[in-house]
Amino acid sequence: MSSKTTGLRDLRQRVSALFQDHEIFVRTHGHVRFLRVSAVWQKRVALIAGVVLLAWAGATLAVLINQLLTADERAAVAQQQAAATASEARIAKYRDRVAETAADLEERQALLESVAETHFGIDPAAMPAEPATQQAVVPAEPVKTSAIDPNLPPEAQILARLATRQEAFAARLLAAVEDRAANAETAVAALGLNPDRLVRNAAAGRGGPFIPYRDRMGKAKTLGASFAALDSALFRMEVLERTLVAVPSGNPANVLMMSSGFGYRSDPFTGAGAMHAGLDFRGPVGTPILSAAPGRVSFVGRKSGYGNVVEVDHGQGILTRYAHLSGFTTKVGTQVTAGQQIAKMGSTGRSTGSHLHFEVRLNGQAVNPRRFLEAKADVLEVKADARQRVGSVAAARGARGAR
Ligand SMILES: [Zn+2]
Repeated sequence: MSSKTTGLRDLRQRVSALFQDHEIFVRTHGHVRFLRVSAVWQKRVALIAGVVLLAWAGATLAVLINQLLTADERAAVAQQQAAATASEARIAKYRDRVAETAADLEERQALLESVAETHFGIDPAAMPAEPATQQAVVPAEPVKTSAIDPNLPPEAQILARLATRQEAFAARLLAAVEDRAANAETAVAALGLNPDRLVRNAAAGRGGPFIPYRDRMGKAKTLGASFAALDSALFRMEVLERTLVAVPSGNPANVLMMSSGFGYRSDPFTGAGAMHAGLDFRGPVGTPILSAAPGRVSFVGRKSGYGNVVEVDHGQGILTRYAHLSGFTTKVGTQVTAGQQIAKMGSTGRSTGSHLHFEVRLNGQAVNPRRFLEAKADVLEVKADARQRVGSVAAARGARGAR
């Protein structure tokens, strides 16, 4: 038998000796009672007390250990907890940002598509996934991707790449629009018109420019500085190009001789000095009279002194007047193209012989038609370009209306 077993038996005997049956006698009001406290009961009480004591010691120990941790160790634990919380917050923030970026992208894309449609007649639904038509409008340029944060999660990187491409496209579009506006400005100035005043008047709502979906473009302001710049450049381009299109540079009659110029002259009836507000073209009665620019016939009838008159409204505050006619071949409200016949030459009103009196009015003021009729080839080239763009916008709108 080992000494260990002996030792254990020895310990058990000593513990048993501690818990022996006891009898206690209690005297109450002269009566004596015996209370018996068994050894088993004593052991149970001792066990419960021991367990309670141990639990209390464990709790005390935990507090003690925490107090014994160094400041550095406590900081490390706190840091770990903070890092976990922060990464949760970052993920939530990313999710918000991704949704926000996607919404921004969508709104800007819608705006760019509306620009393509309303200013270039490009139907967004007909646009290929890789927009070749848009790249034809603006020269292609590789997209810089170096600016994208490599730490972004993959879905955020896709959006960031899209945003970068969209910004690059908007910038190229802006450059192309500004380029067109500058060309139109040069051409308009060459015609003796004031480009800045035209844009100012249009912005103030005078001169009645036709600018499609101006209200929708107002959204550009909420989409940042580059889109606001695009909005402003588009407005300028529209006003100047539509003015060019409206300019009456077509010959109002296929006759060469001009009998009287614009300005002061002696009145053919009274001989006194008088303002001649137009140009006179001499020709045989019945010579076809042609609209000098596209527009809408706004007057057909008689006017004092002018005799039979046709007026065509070209928009942008530009109106042409054809007088002393022998007959009409159009009626009020008709849309006419440049070179379309509207009347026949005659000698009605204050006229000394068969001729056409041709007048150009800009915002109600008679201006010399010569500068429009004698427009140089480079101006006419810009005008033809503007007419093509405005025409494709009108065609797209027509197609949309027909759908
Ligand atoms: Zn005249």
